[in-house]
Amino acid sequence: MKESLSRNIETPCFIVKGIEDNQCQRCGYQIKATDYDDFSRKYCPSCEAYGFIDESSVLFRYERKVEIKKHELSLKFSLSEAQKQASQFLLHQIMTHQKCVLHAVCGAGKTEILYESLLYGLNQGWRLCLAIPRTDIVKELTLRLQKRFPDSIIKELHQYAKDDSFAHILVSTIHQLIHYYQEFDIIFLDEADAFPFRGNPFLNRIIRKALKPQGHLIEMSATIDQPMAKRISKEKIKTFVLPARFHRQHLDQFHIEYVSQLDSFVKKRNSLPSPLKNWLQDLLNSHHQALLFVPTKAWGQWLEKAMADSGFHCESVHSMDLNKNYKIKCFRDRQIPFLISTTLLERGITIKGIHIGILNASHPIFDEFTLIQMAGRVGRHKDQPHGEIVLFTEMRTTAIENAKKYVKRMNTDAIKKGLIDNDLPSL
Ligand SMILES: [Zn+2]
Repeated sequence: MKESLSRNIETPCFIVKGIEDNQCQRCGYQIKATDYDDFSRKYCPSCEAYGFIDESSVLFRYERKVEIKKHELSLKFSLSEAQKQASQFLLHQIMTHQKCVLHAVCGAGKTEILYESLLYGLNQGWRLCLAIPRTDIVKELTLRLQKRFPDSIIKELHQYAKDDSFAHILVSTIHQLIHYYQEFDIIFLDEADAFPFRGNPFLNRIIRKALKPQGHLIEMSATIDQPMAKRISKEKIKTFVLPARFHRQHLDQFHIEYVSQLDSFVKKRNSLPSPLKNWLQDLLNSHHQALLFVPTKAWGQWLEKAMADSGFHCESVHSMDLNKNYKIKCFRDRQIPFLISTTLLERGITIKGIHIGILNASHPIFDEFTLIQMAGRVGRHKDQPHGEIVLFTEMRTTAIENAKKYVKRMNTDAIKKGLIDNDLPSL
C-alpha cells in the first residue's frame, strides 16, 4: 500500500495514526521520552525530512492497482554457466518462499541473474521492487529492465520521479520505500553492503515495512562484512556465492606502489611523485584511460592541479559537483584520459577498458569494501576483461591486506568451481 500524509480524495484509502504505541507508523522509529514538539506532542525525529509527523498526524494508505497479465522475457543471449546456477538458486528460493543472499563479485552480471525470478514474480501477479542506493543506477536499470520485459510497466522511483501508477516492477532508491506499507512480495536489495544501507537502522526499518508480512527480501552484495555475516548465520539465510565474472576471466589483483611523502608531493610541492607520473605517462602513451580515486574533494583538487601542471589532461568530480554528469560523459566518450573522483564513483559505473589508480590508499576512508568496489570498475567488458589496479600509498593497511585476500579467495574459489578459463597469474 502506498502511504501519504495528505489524502488523494479520489482513491479509497485506510487511515492510521501517525504515531501509535510510541512507534512512528511511517518509519518504525521507537519514540523516546524526549521526543516532544513545541506543543508537547510526541513526534518522530527520524523521518522528519519526509514531512513533520506527530501524534495528531494521520497516514493515508492506498492500494496500488496493477493489472494482472502474462509477461514475457526478451533475452537474446544466454547466461553464463555460473549465472544460470545463481539464477536457478534464486528462483528456487523464491518459489519455496525462503530468504537468501546473492554474494557475487563485481561484474558477475547480477541483473541478468534476476530475470527468471522477476518473470516468475510478474506472472504470479506479485508486487516487485528493486531497491538501489543511487538514483543514476535506478534510471539506468529501469531502461535495461524495460528492454527485457517489453510488455511490462517498469517505473523508476527517486527524489524527482514519484509516479508508480500501474507499474509491474518499481526500481527505487531505498529512501523512497518510506512511502510504502506492506506493498511488496519481493524486494531485491542491491548493494546491501554499501552506504547508505550498511549499518543504517532507519533504512532497514523502512525496507521491512515496505515488504508484505510473507514477503521476501533478497539481498545482493559483492562483499559481506562481519555484522552481515553474523546476521546471515543467526537467521540461517542461504547464500549463493558467485566468485567469477560473467566473462570467465579472473579478477585482477591490486598492485602496490609505495610512495613516500605522497601528501606532501601533491599538496605542497604541487607535483607528482615519479611512480605516479610514470604510470600516467605509460597509460597516455598506450592510449589508455584511468579513473583516479582520491580520499577527499580537496585531495582531488590538489591532484587535478598537480596533474595539469605536469601536462596531464584531467577533470575531477565529487558528489556536490554540479557538472559531474557532463565530466563523466566526457570521460566515457574518451575525451578525457584521466578522471579524478572521490568515492562517488566507487560503485555502479561501467566504462570499457579503464584502469584504476587509488591515491593515498592508506587513508581510512578506503576500507576493504571500498577498495574491492573500486577495483571492480576494471575488466567489466568481455573484450577487455582485465585492467590495472594500482594503490599509491606510503604503507600497507589492514584494509589493503584484506582486499588482496578477497581477490585471491574469490579467484581460488572460481577455479575450484570451474568458472574461469584462463591461467591465474601469481597472486
Ligand atoms: Zn518516523
